[in-house]
Amino acid sequence: MGELRDFVSDVLNIEGSAVEAVEPDGLEVLAPEPLRTAMGWPELVRLGFGAELPAGAMAVGFEGDWLDRFGALLRDRGRWAERQLVLPGPMPRITDPERLLDHALDLPNAIWRLHGVSTAWARCLLLAFRYTAVSDEKREGLVWLGFNQGTGAVIDDVLARLRPLLAADTEWQVPDPDVRHAAGPAWDAPTLEARVRPLLKHRVRLEMEPFLRTMRRRLDRDRNRIHEYHNDLHLVAQKRLASLAGTSSEKAKGDRKREMLRIAAIEREYSAKLDDLRRNYALRVTIEWAQGLELFVPVQRFEVLVKRRKGERLIRIDWHPTVRLMEPPPSDWGLGLERSRLVCDDHLHITEAAGQSPCPSCGRAWCRACHPTACPRCRQAIA
Ligand SMILES: [Zn+2]
Ligand SMILES: [Zn+2]
Repeated sequence: MGELRDFVSDVLNIEGSAVEAVEPDGLEVLAPEPLRTAMGWPELVRLGFGAELPAGAMAVGFEGDWLDRFGALLRDRGRWAERQLVLPGPMPRITDPERLLDHALDLPNAIWRLHGVSTAWARCLLLAFRYTAVSDEKREGLVWLGFNQGTGAVIDDVLARLRPLLAADTEWQVPDPDVRHAAGPAWDAPTLEARVRPLLKHRVRLEMEPFLRTMRRRLDRDRNRIHEYHNDLHLVAQKRLASLAGTSSEKAKGDRKREMLRIAAIEREYSAKLDDLRRNYALRVTIEWAQGLELFVPVQRFEVLVKRRKGERLIRIDWHPTVRLMEPPPSDWGLGLERSRLVCDDHLHITEAAGQSPCPSCGRAWCRACHPTACPRCRQAIA
C-alpha cells in the first residue's frame, strides 16, 4: 500500500492539508475547507492503508470508490505536461550510420542515400487513453501512443523503453525556449486527429483481443446450451405430432393443435432467449484521453534521400540515444508500424506495402496516399 499512501499524501498536500505519517501504514490529516466537505471528513482525520489500522483510522484501499474520490480532487491537473530529457553524458557518436540505416530502412522499390546525420531536438508526443469495454463483463485499460512530430514517425518501440526511464528519473526539466524553438512546431489539430484516430483504434482492438476471445467463447457456450435445450424440446414435440398424424378423431385433432401450439411456443421462447443473449453480450467501448506529455529529446537525425525512377525526396529518421533505438521511417499512408515501405511513382509517397497494393476489383496497383478514397481506374471505393 506504500504507493497508494504516497499518492494520497501528495493529493492531500496539494489540496492544502497538513499530512503526517502515523504507524502502522497510515496518515494523519488536518483537512481544510473545501476538502473537508468534498470528502465528508472532520477537520482531523486518520487514514489507514494496511491490514492493520492506526487507532481510530478509516481504511483506504483500491476497492470501493476511493480512487475515484481522490481522482476527482485532482480534476484536470496533471493531464498535460512538458518535459525536456537530458542525456546523462555526451551524445554518443554513431560510427557506422549507413549500417544503422540499413537495418531501419526496407525500401523494396526504391533506393536511398544517406544525406547527413546531425544532432537535433525531437518534439515527441506521448498520449495515454483509457478504454472501457462493457458487455457481460467489464474490461478497462490504458493505451499509450507515441509520435515524433519532427519526423512523423510512430515511436511505439522507443516509447516502451522511454517510459520506465522517465518514471525512474525524478528530475523534471522544463523545456528551454531554445530547445522548444529548435524542435520545430507541434502538429496542428487536424494532423493530430488524422494520426491519432486510426492508430488508437488499432491499438485498442489489439488490447481487447483476449477479452473479446473469452467473451466469444462464453457467448458460444451459452448459445449452444440454449440451442440444445430448445432443440430437444422441439424434437420431442415434433415426434409427438408425427405420431398423431393419420388419425382423424376429434381428440387427435385437439392433440395435434396443442402440439403445434407447443412447437410455436418453443420457437418463440428460443428466439426470445437469443435476443437476451444478444443484449447481454452487446459490446460498448468508450475511449477517453487521459494524459499527454510533450517530450523534448536529443536525437541523431538522419536525412535520407529516397529515389524512385526519376524522382527523389528527402526524409528524416531519428536515432534516440536515450534508448539506443532507430525509429521506423515515416509513412504517408497506413499506421506506420512496420519498417518496410513502398514508394509511389507520381508523388514519391512513402507508404506501407498495402498502400500500393492492387485494386481488389480491377487488379491495378495504385497509391492510397495519392487516391485515398477510390481506385483511380475503376472507381471502386476503398472498403
Ligand atoms: Zn480498380
Ligand atoms: Zn502517391
